[in-house]
Amino acid sequence: MLLGHHKVMLIPGDGIGPEVIGATTELLEFMGAKVEFIHAEAGYGAYKKYGTPLPKETVDLFAEAKCALFGAVTTPPSIEGYRSPIIQLRQMFDLYANVRPFKSFELFKDYSFDFVIIRENTEGLYVAREHWKSDGIAIAERQITQEACGRIATFAFEMAKSQSRNRVTAVHKANVLRVTDGLFLSCFHNVAKDYPMIRVEEMLVDSTATRLIVFPESFDIILAPNLYGDILSDLAAGLVGSLGFSPSANLGVEHALFEPIHGSAPDIAGNDVANPYGTLFASCMLLEHLGEKKLANRLFSLLTNGIANGILTHDLGGRFRTSEVTKQLIKLEDIGYRSG
Ligand code: ATP
Repeated sequence: MLLGHHKVMLIPGDGIGPEVIGATTELLEFMGAKVEFIHAEAGYGAYKKYGTPLPKETVDLFAEAKCALFGAVTTPPSIEGYRSPIIQLRQMFDLYANVRPFKSFELFKDYSFDFVIIRENTEGLYVAREHWKSDGIAIAERQITQEACGRIATFAFEMAKSQSRNRVTAVHKANVLRVTDGLFLSCFHNVAKDYPMIRVEEMLVDSTATRLIVFPESFDIILAPNLYGDILSDLAAGLVGSLGFSPSANLGVEHALFEPIHGSAPDIAGNDVANPYGTLFASCMLLEHLGEKKLANRLFSLLTNGIANGILTHDLGGRFRTSEVTKQLIKLEDIGYRSG
């Protein structure tokens, strides 16, 4: 290990994963990040090579490194018993909080918003317990526990406190799912009692979708069970401008994994057109997590500068390829460095 360097597991994965990861590691290296990346495999490519999408070496490495940067993986729906490695890692390492910040860029939209979706990351429908009750009747179990709801609510209120955000909106469908979402809401209100200075709000998930489109600036922190959080995040990414823009952090007590929110996008893989900003912003979150706040801030302002200067890929009407975005950002950083 390089002296003074943070050891971080790097999983490029499938599809556009290696392209957006390549763009990110190149920029981090240029910026002098004290990170030693250790390559690991996961995803459909790993499955074809080793017969498993999550090799034991990858699990062992994450157990030791405790921190990872992840590209994207393809999950083929037709292979029986196949489980997405990212969902497995979230559950195995109890990465219970999925944090997804969404901030508007003036360049694309004329409204301004800045909110965070906090998605419970370990249970709900993602326990993937499905079975056939009888011919033509399929059942999926949705697990909601007091423990998981309590700790994700605490996480949301603590984040509100530390980031000076003043409202937490709990998203639910308790008018239909009275028991499971009912439990989620009662845990939320129990925890809220300890944070009297923070406003609390409940909102049906369907109403939340509309309000996000019409009035996104009204949100501060959105707290959601697993599946609602997943769907609302893609909607919010659309509000920002592209699915390729948004980062996320999967946080546990000891382990942390950072990734863009998009998937492996097989339709554009291999064409050097993927938007790398989601992974680049994820690496900002990673640097902050590692205590490299100054570099995280420098990288963040370089990225927002790059966006403002039109260093964009095709999904946003830009003219740059994935690999060119990094080169252009390096140029921009160089100019800024020389003039500043
Ligand atoms: P998953 O199930 O893993 O979410 P998916 O195929 O449903 O995967 P994505 O892979 O995220 O979803 O892709 C959805 C659409 O968004 C695709 O048309 C894809 O081309 C586009 N897309 C996703 N990520 C990017 C990106 N980084 N840059 C440009 N377009 C992207």
